[in-house]
Amino acid sequence: MTKTSFDLVVVGGGPGGYVAAIRAAQLGLSTALVERAELGGICLNWGCIPTKALLHSATVLRACREAEQYGVTGAGAAQPDLAAMVARSRKVAGRLGQGVAHLMKKNGVTVLAASARLAGGGRVALDNGATLSARHIILATGARARDLPALPLGERIWAYRQALTPPALPKSLLVVGAGAIGAEFASFYRAVGAEVTLIDMTADILPQEDAEISALARKAFEKQGIRVLTQCAVKSSSLTATGVKAVLEQQGKSFELEAERVIVAAGIVGNVENLGLEQTRVKVEKTHIVTDGLGRTAEPGVYAIGDVAGAPWLAHKASHEAVLCVEAIAGLPAHPLDPLRIPACTYSHPQVASIGMTEARARDHAKATGGEIRVGKFTFAGNGKAIAMGEDQGLVKTVFDAKTGELLGAHIIHPEASELIAGYGVAASLEATEEDLMHTVFAHPTLSETLHESVLAAFGRALHG
Ligand SMILES: Cc1cc2nc3c(=O)[nH]c(=O)nc-3n(C[C@H](O)[C@H](O)[C@H](O)COP(=O)(O)OP(=O)(O)OC[C@H]3O[C@@H](n4cnc5c(N)ncnc54)[C@H](O)[C@@H]3O)c2cc1C
Repeated sequence: MTKTSFDLVVVGGGPGGYVAAIRAAQLGLSTALVERAELGGICLNWGCIPTKALLHSATVLRACREAEQYGVTGAGAAQPDLAAMVARSRKVAGRLGQGVAHLMKKNGVTVLAASARLAGGGRVALDNGATLSARHIILATGARARDLPALPLGERIWAYRQALTPPALPKSLLVVGAGAIGAEFASFYRAVGAEVTLIDMTADILPQEDAEISALARKAFEKQGIRVLTQCAVKSSSLTATGVKAVLEQQGKSFELEAERVIVAAGIVGNVENLGLEQTRVKVEKTHIVTDGLGRTAEPGVYAIGDVAGAPWLAHKASHEAVLCVEAIAGLPAHPLDPLRIPACTYSHPQVASIGMTEARARDHAKATGGEIRVGKFTFAGNGKAIAMGEDQGLVKTVFDAKTGELLGAHIIHPEASELIAGYGVAASLEATEEDLMHTVFAHPTLSETLHESVLAAFGRALHG
């Protein structure tokens, strides 16, 4: 007979849920994972990974077209094969999904393909008629794209799934929302030849990022031929013979914009519906489940992690919360995740990566607490490796508390920014001060030397700037 009683049942097999299941199994908890769609969740199947596969194809295309400047001839006429790029992206996603299935097996996690909901009294009802019981239940049901009433999704108005599997390259594209997801799609589609307009309601693209970095990203996008419209909203839309006509409003002025296709990337909402939450004390705010930072909800024995537990909507945040939640369940010491230590990356061209406070936020924080900040900046134009690579555009900015030397924030714009931010992540985690960072030896020649120089610059000691 199939086992139905577990120490832990995890609902949702994304980077929150599957990591929770692995950690629980490692700690000796009998664990079941219920997933209604694909193991790996949005991240592996429709988010982080397939977008990065497409963006890498764009990087290869760019490298071919620019090859001549590196003394490589014959590649300049390279053309994108969109169908092949999409096929590769799907293959990469599929491979990782299989990897998760393997990890579940290896760790002795029971995987059930079903939709689950809470049934009260430590029970979970599956839509195949089965009922599981568990001492602990983790909800890791993720999130989905936010709908915009002005842009009803369909064949020509896409959310991320359709944007990841286009049947053909649209000649023109309107991307609505210039956060990380919108910026990445704008970057990819422009690289493969679409006329792209990127709009956002806020004053700049990547509005969560440091204002100086956002402004540099906008400049780089515009240089690539992406039309950027900020403080701009879609009021309505209608289908035309060949595409979509959108009525936009920017600073009180209305105008029409026609594009073959539209991608809606205007935020996400948590999957809190049909989970049986109504019969529990679990609190839902806006569209996320309220937790205490270690996944505990107001209902004893019911936990929530990852996207369904709120911002930031990032895979590594989901996985980290998963480990903390399970370790707390197992009675190990666990501390809530500090949001200022969660890096955020946008994998557009160029990439943007950051951790901690923006310069403006750090300044406000300092003003409120009677403190001061120190800001160091270093451009990649002063870095040997960047020049050797032909990637000398970009900036690293480091923000410190002037009095204590605490690292408050770091911000990078460069094609390799997402790899470089890890240095600051380790520093923040170890509570490194400016002294520690200044005395760290960085290998030469590496892009990471810009981190060092940016730290030195904050104290007037940059060597190459
Ligand atoms: C286009 C795109 C690009 C992204 N790029 C990045 C990136 O580069 N880096 C990054 O950190 N983040 C990125 N994200 C965000 C990232 O995908 C999410 O933060 C991450 O997937 C959240 O993990 P999760 O486990 O909370 O939820 P999910 O990955 O959404 O997994 C939830 C799972 O629960 C299942 N489920 C839901 N309800 C039920 C139910 N009732 N019963 C059974 N199963 C259920 C779903 O089918 C799903 O598989 C991206 C997102 C998108 C859309």
